[in-house]
Amino acid sequence: MLRWLTGRGASPRAVERQAETLTGEVWHATLERHDFLAGLTAGESEALRQRTAWLLASKTFSAAQGLELTDTVRLSIAVQAALPILALEPERYEGWTEIIVYPEGFLIPRQEVDEAGVVHEYMQEAAGEAWDGGPLILSWHDIDQAEGDMNVVIHEFAHKLDLHHGPADGQPDLSRHPELRPRRWRQVLEQSFTSFQRALEAVEAAIPHDVDPESEAADAWYGQLPLDPYAATDPAEFFAVSSEAFFVAPRGLVELLPDWYELLAGFYRQDPWRRWRDYVDSTNMASASAAGRLTPGS
Ligand SMILES: [Zn+2]
Repeated sequence: MLRWLTGRGASPRAVERQAETLTGEVWHATLERHDFLAGLTAGESEALRQRTAWLLASKTFSAAQGLELTDTVRLSIAVQAALPILALEPERYEGWTEIIVYPEGFLIPRQEVDEAGVVHEYMQEAAGEAWDGGPLILSWHDIDQAEGDMNVVIHEFAHKLDLHHGPADGQPDLSRHPELRPRRWRQVLEQSFTSFQRALEAVEAAIPHDVDPESEAADAWYGQLPLDPYAATDPAEFFAVSSEAFFVAPRGLVELLPDWYELLAGFYRQDPWRRWRDYVDSTNMASASAAGRLTPGS
């Protein structure tokens, strides 16, 4: 009980009990639900199963606004959250316990002070939020309907990794990565963030005046970017949005921000682009191409 109260991970026995519920059939069905999990080696699949069991045993799931918290909902969130720590210490997700799931996007009260010093209060709709030391909040609709390079679960858990032992600044704890120098991280992060901001500005300038930038018609321009434009907000969002693309649709990162991709691969100790190419090589994956996972910028 104390472990639970302090946000520590569950005991090895509790994790093992959860792992036993992830039988071959259940596990196979869970992997099948998410096409970006295709191509895991047997060893990676087993590591992911263990991390998924760790999450299920260590976190409490609560439903909000009448959502039914089914096994599918819990498992889908847990397996996606487990992917970033497949090769990392699960302790990085410690220090908090609750995952709250809303049926759809939810409203967050925001406050902003403008240049004249006037405070503006407004409600912002969100698909997920990660509180420092507190709960992680997700919209099931946005998880279930995710497309392209978007993945709200990985996004919010990347914020948790960033917040573990430090501020949300796009630099996770590197103390267990002696090969990754914090200074180099900061340098590549800043260069990549700036280069992404410039690319976004160029895309925005190229959109003709008669095309509404908020409409779907503008996707042809934004689609040239390796990341969702939200990544340009600040370095913390850049890390979270990059982590989504890194695991779900890495090609744009590999081609347009290769140093950043390499750094992320070093931190996560995974190479999803290589995993995906190996998978394509080993199977006849015309369907994968049709699903858009091999198109640049996806
Ligand atoms: Zn975010």
